Amino acid sequence: MKRITRIFIIADDALRREIYNHVKKDIPKEWQKEYEYSGTGALGLPLEEDSKSYHYVMDMAKKYDFHPGVDQIVHYTKSEIEKTDYFKMDIATPLELEGTEASVYGTKYEGGCPNPKCHLGKKLVGDVFVDRKYMKKWDIGTLFPDNYMSEKLRELIHSEDITGVSFIGEVKDFKGREMPTYYVMDIEHILPPMAGSTWLINDPYPNPAYNNCGHQVIYLRSDVQYEKEKLIGAKDFNLSSEYIDNNRMQALIVSNRVRKLFKQHKIWARFSPIAVLE
Ligand SMILES: [Zn+2]
Repeated sequence: MKRITRIFIIADDALRREIYNHVKKDIPKEWQKEYEYSGTGALGLPLEEDSKSYHYVMDMAKKYDFHPGVDQIVHYTKSEIEKTDYFKMDIATPLELEGTEASVYGTKYEGGCPNPKCHLGKKLVGDVFVDRKYMKKWDIGTLFPDNYMSEKLRELIHSEDITGVSFIGEVKDFKGREMPTYYVMDIEHILPPMAGSTWLINDPYPNPAYNNCGHQVIYLRSDVQYEKEKLIGAKDFNLSSEYIDNNRMQALIVSNRVRKLFKQHKIWARFSPIAVLE
């Protein structure tokens, strides 16, 4: 496994090309193809931190006043991935087209943060209501703040004795019309905090609505890392204790069994290896 720093820059085409050509010899071979110059969008440059090329990009950023983003990325070989025990699972978000919250259709929640503009950690009461015409056809997905699974996937999970997930509530059309059945996932096991080496970055532009309660957005800017002992007792489905990224959701941390099951049945999700620190 290799971990490296990645610099993101947004600049005009000529400047991006100049910078890319200057540093491309130092992009390690694992990333060369993926980060080939494409001419569109932000330019990502995986470079060793504190290398000459790294400082060159940072100096150019200062000179031309563009604000680079920096994060960490990892590369695993195929055989390393097969041997990995846990993965961060990213699923379709949101599960319907409008990007609304289910509360818009009358879904009820209770508890969570008392700040009325925040409600972080609120819990579902009863069923979830959506407008069926906006629901997409994914087998698993998020409609804030919960995760959902299709009937087909739930049956699969049960038949394979996958642990750590049970189901609370069903998803129903807000007008009572028929729709494919979805279930709301309930994951009980919350992992201890991620290792201190994980890049969890405070929002550089804090949202005033969260000033009172302190539940600002925290961005995950590296792979997820845990000390070995923190994974003792983990189930097939787990949640991180951190609420991360713009949606302020707990990360789904799943076992390799879940990843293999999804692959075998062609159910889409993105699986990123969890680094275990000895
Ligand atoms: Zn709050």
